[in-house]
Amino acid sequence: MPLAHYIGGRFEESGVPFELVDPADGTVIGTVPEADAATVDRAVTAARAALTGSWGACGDQERGAMLHRIAEGIQVRFEEFVAAEVADTGKPVELARTVDIPRAIANFHAYADLLWGRAEDSYHTPTEDGAGALNYTVRRPLGVVAVIAPWNLPLLLLSWKVAPALAAGNAVLAKPSELTPSSATLLAEVVDAAGLPAGAFNLLHGFGADSAGAMLTAHSGVDAIAFTGESATGSAIMRSAAQRLAPVSFELGGKNPALVFADADFEAAVAGTVRSVFTNAGQVCLCTERVYVERSIFGEFVEALAERAKTLRLGAPYDPGTEMGPLISAQHKEKVLGYYELAKQGGATVHAGGGAPDRSGFFVEPTVLTGLREQDRPVREEIFGPVCHLAPFDTEEEALQLANDSEYGLAATVWTGSLSRAHRVAPRLQTGIAWVNCWNLRDLRTPFGGVKASGIGREGGKHSLDFFSEPMNVCVKL
Ligand code: NAD
Repeated sequence: MPLAHYIGGRFEESGVPFELVDPADGTVIGTVPEADAATVDRAVTAARAALTGSWGACGDQERGAMLHRIAEGIQVRFEEFVAAEVADTGKPVELARTVDIPRAIANFHAYADLLWGRAEDSYHTPTEDGAGALNYTVRRPLGVVAVIAPWNLPLLLLSWKVAPALAAGNAVLAKPSELTPSSATLLAEVVDAAGLPAGAFNLLHGFGADSAGAMLTAHSGVDAIAFTGESATGSAIMRSAAQRLAPVSFELGGKNPALVFADADFEAAVAGTVRSVFTNAGQVCLCTERVYVERSIFGEFVEALAERAKTLRLGAPYDPGTEMGPLISAQHKEKVLGYYELAKQGGATVHAGGGAPDRSGFFVEPTVLTGLREQDRPVREEIFGPVCHLAPFDTEEEALQLANDSEYGLAATVWTGSLSRAHRVAPRLQTGIAWVNCWNLRDLRTPFGGVKASGIGREGGKHSLDFFSEPMNVCVKL
């Protein structure tokens, strides 16, 4: 099926088409219809109608069963989903097979299961006549929610919000990134086959500013916005939502630090940092871009990391042995190379990479830098590419100060062999997530999100269900 919107249970291709490009070789691989204002309006109307129709009447059990069917539907078409994700992103096929698509499936199963584990508070309140009153909480959906997703882990991040939004009984308007529309369109087909009532899940394609994204966030018929993307986009969406005080849940950018102490398992710290810097070509919000290493092992650590970076095999998604794919777009490649240039101009020592290989597609070299000052832009700003800057520290206190000196606060990683140090350091990191001797080890029930410019609110497990529903207190005089 061609790429299409999904509105009120129907696929349609209205709107001026724009081109979809394969990042691995730069060729045009398809066209995507751009939703206009009238299409967005129709989708909002369909979603509102679903809330008062059969979707709104579904109980937890029915919604849970539908979510399981969606998960099973993705599983049945697993390889189609993998191919769609790989075509849009250029990522190594193994990454899509082992992370993106399995995690999307898990998201739907997990939120279906979580519906059963849900409990609400109740209080018996004393009253003067001695009879008392019973207070209990009822959870209601927010209504129509817009889910706006980025391109780096397209289906994983879209489903991370769509699944709990549906579980909580909302009607969803999903907008994937303009750069990665394919797996979301397959998801709409799976949702359709899973038998969700028309309008419960709607899909709109288009760009962000001055397009479908901004139209959704400004729409008076949209009750809440769940967004993952850049911090600057989050600010723009918040301004738009502020007009009508619509609640927002934001997962935004990061400039994540890793702290490597001399008492760490050296090999594990190097291997873990290679993963945390270069996975998905550094295009994961949780990727490490700042590495602080205890001075006694600094030189050795830089050398080991650079050696590994130099041997990472760049390649096409289906080439056996490819370890790193391209960046998402020509524009993003230009941005990342701009930071490489800025680093060199700022006096950085380049231990690995620093440029782009001579091949088609949007590839850049895995890059390891030292020698910049903490206030330099490549150390402060999110680059979102396969690059890190390393700097030495002398004390635990200094390591913490360096790690926390950032506008962002998404995730941090601590490598240490000392249990006491791990527990001392981790809670003092100004981030939403701290990993000790691991990276990106995720349990879907745990709170996920960032502080400072990295986000607003927490998702994951009950935290997502909390955002996507409104608690209401009922007080009964006994
Ligand atoms: P982006 O902000 O450019 O776009 C994200 C989505 O928002 C896209 O669908 C886009 O079309 C839409 N959009 C853009 N401008 C908009 C506007 N004015 N109004 C409404 N919608 C708009 O982000 P990106 O480049 O797609 O993704 C990369 C960014 O996402 C990085 O900063 C990364 O750190 C962040 N990210 C964060 C997390 C997290 O969980 N914290 C996860 C993944 C990515």
